Amino acid sequence: MMGDKMKEVIILSGKGGTGKTSLIGSFAHLADNKILVDCDVDASDLHLLLSPRPVEEHDFVSGVKARVETDRCSTCGMCAEVCQFDSVTMGDTATISELACEGCGVCAHFCPEQAIVLDKNHCGSWYISDTDYGPLVHAELFAGEENSGKLVSHIKNQAKQLAQSNNTDLILIDGSPGVGCPVIASLSNVDLAVVITEPTLSGKHDLERILDLTDHFKIPALVCINKWDIHPEMSTIIETACKKRKIELLGKIPFDPAVIECQIQGQPVTSSDTSLAAYSIRAVWETLQKKINQLDDRVSLDGSLSR
Ligand code: SF4
Ligand code: SF4
Repeated sequence: MMGDKMKEVIILSGKGGTGKTSLIGSFAHLADNKILVDCDVDASDLHLLLSPRPVEEHDFVSGVKARVETDRCSTCGMCAEVCQFDSVTMGDTATISELACEGCGVCAHFCPEQAIVLDKNHCGSWYISDTDYGPLVHAELFAGEENSGKLVSHIKNQAKQLAQSNNTDLILIDGSPGVGCPVIASLSNVDLAVVITEPTLSGKHDLERILDLTDHFKIPALVCINKWDIHPEMSTIIETACKKRKIELLGKIPFDPAVIECQIQGQPVTSSDTSLAAYSIRAVWETLQKKINQLDDRVSLDGSLSR
């Protein structure tokens, strides 16, 4: 039992390949009574590890796309003239490129024949699935769509509702990669961030960028260094940088070929009894549980992001 209030904990990394999925897969294995959320809606790989079995599938609809009803089009060319996005091609009738259309609706407004309709844009799907380690809320944005921030916000809200109805006190979030719009959406209402990094110059750089973001939104952050022993000196530099920022080190995980073996077998690292990495991740999880229990007051994001 984590405490008397629901907590949202996010796991972040600057880019792929730092061990984020292995870490959250292991947390999923170790944590009791939780909801898992995968906010990587563009290229999820958590599902490879958790093998979700969808229980619910829903369309994700956002914005509109313009479409010409060709039998009413008089080929006057007005729509092509007013479209700022070069989405209209004139031929026997006007044709609108679904990919290029931004759904602003200007063409429909000016069409003298009312030949343009604005269809709702079905741009992805979201799911509630069962996994061996608890419910997972996840989503998939169709290729070429650009609403990942909205979809992330949507699945986070769904996860919260599910947590409330299941009386679950922990939401564990696999954060979106990078520092752009989806990751900002995934940080909304989060109580605690765990940032996983690796001891390389680019790892340190990415870490600093994410810590700038968590600082900005006043989200407490903890750092975990993966494969710390492949470059102990850089690990020390990262630890020093964290200390300077008053960011606590949650733990260090050694390089361990067993991690790759577990990935190939689709098993969480912590399912191994002999792996050194599994031992460290268990220690990291124990410390993280204590930190979660110490969170008294929810730290909110600024007004634009709060519920
Ligand atoms: S403005 Fe309307 S009628 Fe004119 S070309 Fe476009 S769709 Fe056809
Ligand atoms: S809705 Fe806007 S972007 Fe799409 S075709 Fe019409 S004017 Fe162009």
